[in-house]
Amino acid sequence: MSPPARTIDEPIVIAGHLTSIRWRRSQRARRVALKIDPQAGGIVITLPPRGSRRAGLALLRGHEAWVADRLAALPALTTIAPGGTIPIFGEPHVIVQDAAHRGAPVIGSSKILVSGQPEFLARRVRDALHALATERFSDQARDKAKRIGVTPNHIRVKDTKSRWGSCTAEGILMFSWRLIMAPDFVQDYVIAHEVAHLRYMNHAPEFWRLTERLTPHRAPAMTWLSVQGPGLLRIV
Ligand SMILES: [Zn+2]
Repeated sequence: MSPPARTIDEPIVIAGHLTSIRWRRSQRARRVALKIDPQAGGIVITLPPRGSRRAGLALLRGHEAWVADRLAALPALTTIAPGGTIPIFGEPHVIVQDAAHRGAPVIGSSKILVSGQPEFLARRVRDALHALATERFSDQARDKAKRIGVTPNHIRVKDTKSRWGSCTAEGILMFSWRLIMAPDFVQDYVIAHEVAHLRYMNHAPEFWRLTERLTPHRAPAMTWLSVQGPGLLRIV
């Protein structure tokens, strides 16, 4: 039996815990692949054009202990809700819902004030952080690019699951809006890294030398992202 063409989440029990499988069919995949989606807290199985569901399940069963460990190690899920706390620039901000407040959310030093109906609150908070990230990352990327005599074609801020930033051969820079929740030095490093790719589309020594000309924070930021980064994906 072949898996459905559309992605659906199929419930499954792994090591006594209920989780889900999202099946993906990929024209580019060469083999069956298994990974964890840190945001959804589930399993993703990618099948090549002729891969079977049975092969996917066999791969999963062969790696059940690994999958169970990875799922257990995921940071707790944080829901964007009134009274909850999310980091902005690495500092905790309490989400305050105020029906009397008008206009866009206001981000203070330790709280974020949000108007409107509670059911739209999470989206309004995400939209506000997305807007802040777009403005800030665009300014910083353009500044850094100017320092090394390059110009990005376009700067985009999105919700990405696996990468904090990227750079295409066409000079389009992309950043995850979730980086706005990380400390300033982490943002600075990711922006420097992607801007350096406007010059070098690889990770050769000259690329790293250029990155380090653009930021002094490479090592601590990489450590921060590997330790704390997964938690940013678990804020929904
Ligand atoms: Zn890179």
